[in-house]
Amino acid sequence: MYRTNTCGELRLANKGEKVTLCGWVQRSRDLGGMTFVDLRDRYGITQLAFNMETNAPLCERARRLGREYVLQVTGTVIERSSKNTKIPTGEIELEVEEMTVLNESKTPPFTIEDQSDGGDDLRMKYRYLDIRRNPVKNNLVMRHKMAMLVRNYLSDRDFLEIETPMLIKSTPEGARDFVVPSRMNPGEFYALPQSPQQYKQLLMVAGMDRYFQIVRCFRDEDLRADRQPEFTQIDCEMSFVHQEDVLNMFEGLAKHLFKEMKGIEFDKFPRMTWHDAMRLYGSDKPDLRFGMEFKEVTDVVKGHGFGLFDGAELVVGIVAEGCAEYTRKQLDALTDFVKRPQVGAGGMVYIKYNADGSFKSSVDKFYDAEALKAVADRMGAKPGDLMLLLCGPAMKTRVQLCALRLEMGQQLGLRDPQKFAPLWVIDFPLLEWDDETQRYYAMHHPFTAPKPEDEPLLDDPSKWGDIRANAYDIVMNGCEVGGGSIRIHDRTLQNKMFHTLGFTDESAYAQFGFLMDAFTYGAPPHAGLAFGFDRLCSIFAGADSIRDFIAFPKNNSGRDVMSQSPSPISQEQLDELQIKVDLKG
Ligand code: ASP
Repeated sequence: MYRTNTCGELRLANKGEKVTLCGWVQRSRDLGGMTFVDLRDRYGITQLAFNMETNAPLCERARRLGREYVLQVTGTVIERSSKNTKIPTGEIELEVEEMTVLNESKTPPFTIEDQSDGGDDLRMKYRYLDIRRNPVKNNLVMRHKMAMLVRNYLSDRDFLEIETPMLIKSTPEGARDFVVPSRMNPGEFYALPQSPQQYKQLLMVAGMDRYFQIVRCFRDEDLRADRQPEFTQIDCEMSFVHQEDVLNMFEGLAKHLFKEMKGIEFDKFPRMTWHDAMRLYGSDKPDLRFGMEFKEVTDVVKGHGFGLFDGAELVVGIVAEGCAEYTRKQLDALTDFVKRPQVGAGGMVYIKYNADGSFKSSVDKFYDAEALKAVADRMGAKPGDLMLLLCGPAMKTRVQLCALRLEMGQQLGLRDPQKFAPLWVIDFPLLEWDDETQRYYAMHHPFTAPKPEDEPLLDDPSKWGDIRANAYDIVMNGCEVGGGSIRIHDRTLQNKMFHTLGFTDESAYAQFGFLMDAFTYGAPPHAGLAFGFDRLCSIFAGADSIRDFIAFPKNNSGRDVMSQSPSPISQEQLDELQIKVDLKG
């Protein structure tokens, strides 16, 4: 037997047992008469003891072991004289009688410790060493547990995990596709799936009325912070359901995960329409770990001769409780924050509602105490509070104020990563106008159904922006962790939707013909959703980055720095594919 136990397993109860362990040398300490080696595997660390007096040759060999050597040791479990209360195996050690060095190791480029001295690039280049470290290893263990919980939960509810193809037809809608050339069909390409959307809908037509898949998806997008070109979804679809059934099913799944992983029990998740989310928080994924709801004061502030407010479509603000003592410097920093190009506000107005009931504001020239009191009353501010206002075109200003709200939440410590605030955002708009291309796009995807009562608006292009969809997102701590919709199962409505999105009959058929054809053979009403699994894991762990929950992630430029991909391919491969690469400049 290679090993009888793992390095995380032995306790005082095993005293006297003869065992064999395998693992890596974490570190060794040579104390003259004794040499101690910490042997590590996935499960923990066990201390090995080598005694110069009783076995000098073995002890000599132990002294020469380098970090990360791979060992097999056999010995007897004994009680430690000085116990280590910090690790579960800290009461025992192994008095080694035999040792085989299974493999040597070069000195690793960074230490395999919880706090490593490896920078990000180095860690990624030697990711297999990085994964030996507890923080990364534990994330992968957690990810596995979550995946198992998801599989069992859904399987118990009659969902079938069905694999869908990875080499599929390219679709222009949505993000950019990664494409794969077909050698057998020169000049033709597959795409890697951005999601299994159309296949899961086909599975509904096929009668597999509850489907899920923990599945890799690919999107060739410019990598914004913490995006991965390949990522994992928990992809789900159901037939014969209303929106309510879908929300309840997946709220149930989310609650199950919270209970099992974190021991937290939730009541019903709150729900908010997209419209309210934008109005009250300037975001379709509001962070509800804290309040600081937007307060509109446009009518209260107009007519005092302050041009910026007088000319603004919207004047809106937030109340930072107990922040009236903010210094000039802090306020200037906030102004700089909103003026950064990423936020893009022209400036910020502050009103301090001092503890003594007096006011001090950046617009004292235009507003007397009475006028400022009226603003405070509208905003629900109390003495001791600070009001921060932005103004401008409505939507733009709300989005800017959202950034300020999140910044204030951060500064005030209100965004505790160990606190969880789930939320359903419902009734998303069906269509989204794009200024650049001067056309509407599907906000979710072209298969999302409009709300039945808004369906007639599809006949009036001037109303397209007002059409609401039966689409929903599940949001947690200000992150979208999942989203989905009721699908169109009626061929006529689907055609109308394609026309709205600028397709002709022919171009829609060329693109989605297989789905349209399928829908002529009795498509059931169906709906679904997908969770972003990497993000879900990171939020459960209270972490910012999804990269630490992916075994082998790409860096910010989409590169795998370990294997050095992407990389050029040989001329022979190119010739076989009949691809000419012409790299100019
Ligand atoms: N396929 C969608 C997505 O990737 C999710 C869904 O509508 O089920 O966002």
